[in-house]
Amino acid sequence: MMCDTEAQVTVQWKAESRGAILREAASALPYETGGILLGHWHYGNVVITNMVGPGPKAQHHIAAFTPDRDWQYEQIDLLFAESQGTIQYLGDWHTHPRGVPFPSKTDVSLLASIASSPESRCPRPIMYILATKPKLKWTERLYLYETEPRDSEPRISPLQVCSDNPPGRTGPPPPSTGS
Ligand SMILES: [Zn+2]
Repeated sequence: MMCDTEAQVTVQWKAESRGAILREAASALPYETGGILLGHWHYGNVVITNMVGPGPKAQHHIAAFTPDRDWQYEQIDLLFAESQGTIQYLGDWHTHPRGVPFPSKTDVSLLASIASSPESRCPRPIMYILATKPKLKWTERLYLYETEPRDSEPRISPLQVCSDNPPGRTGPPPPSTGS
């Protein structure tokens, strides 16, 4: 496993959900798309197990998209029931079809509102941004938004993905979940 054990927060990401994001991102081109990341925190590290897509009534534009929230909430409820309540909302993902994988002002505001909203129950949201510029190699970044300790300035730090096995690349198989 290529993983910097000195990193403060590491990420394990199930290849299946990562692959689903890559397929959705490709099928939405040239427009932006996105969705939700689900999983759990494990001893201070992030484990991403599932993704939810934009939904059938989402609206896609070159530099924005509006998800089909009703559909997304239904999917989250289904996944929550299937997992017997072991998964939780971790954050969001979206593409930047014409850009770079850095958070825009809108992205930073979204992270701040997720972190401060009691309903989201996600004080440390993550955000995955995939830059899908046509004819260029896609680039990606995963970020963590934190405001701890209390009253400190919000920090957005890039995270390292440890178990990374997207389709089309060679690497170790994802860890068994024992199911
Ligand atoms: Zn963005």
